[in-house]
Amino acid sequence: MEKIRRVAELLYFSKKAVALTGAGVSTESGIPDFRSPKSLLWERIHAYQFMPMEAYTDGKFDYIEIFYRYWFPLLFPMISCEPNINHHFLHDMEVRGLIEGVITQNTDGLHGKAGSSKVFEVHGNLEGGHCFGCGKQYKIDFILDEIESLRIPPRCKKCEGVVGPNIVFAFERTEDYERGLKLAESSDLLLTMGSSLLVEHVKEIVMGCLERGGKLIVINAQPTPFDDVAEVVIAEKLSSVIRTIWDTIERYF
Ligand SMILES: [Zn+2]
Repeated sequence: MEKIRRVAELLYFSKKAVALTGAGVSTESGIPDFRSPKSLLWERIHAYQFMPMEAYTDGKFDYIEIFYRYWFPLLFPMISCEPNINHHFLHDMEVRGLIEGVITQNTDGLHGKAGSSKVFEVHGNLEGGHCFGCGKQYKIDFILDEIESLRIPPRCKKCEGVVGPNIVFAFERTEDYERGLKLAESSDLLLTMGSSLLVEHVKEIVMGCLERGGKLIVINAQPTPFDDVAEVVIAEKLSSVIRTIWDTIERYF
């Protein structure tokens, strides 16, 4: 309870708090955690995790075909998932002016669905796609229709280019990433939720906050590389921790 109280205080008294979320915030919406070794998703896509880097870049179109045939049927149910308490909490914190924005590793779009207005999706999102030729944007419905009609990969109506999803395959420094990093660097508190903070570019975001004197809160079921330097570490089931923090903020602040 001491830790919960401390988190609530830090959120309330910080000047500019930012949230960083990983797969753990969405598992209760029915979305499997990629890093959980028991997840079916993990087993199915495991083989593709270790493709050489060139396969992502030089052979992009073959890769896209693999994506549509093998990953997409597993991933697209995400689109119909609903936000859970973790997403609603962050939206409420934004409304109260206690959270400046959300940086997320998730591609499910659930922070936006919950109402958060300042969301930086560093790995993109599954809600749409774009043409690799001319850049034209497409809604997910177009992609779903094309796949259902077995036009794989979908082709652009304007230039016949391949239409790929708006997600990041191999890490690229996207605009959302740069803006998220900047936000973390200018924040005095980073609240990380449901992320193991193991990915290099995610570590960079955390370091960006810490190196400028910001404080770190880690709420994650498994240990993270930053537990030693964090102000508070809570390694328990995320939604029950969040429920208690939310109650504390409502009651005392
Ligand atoms: Zn095009």
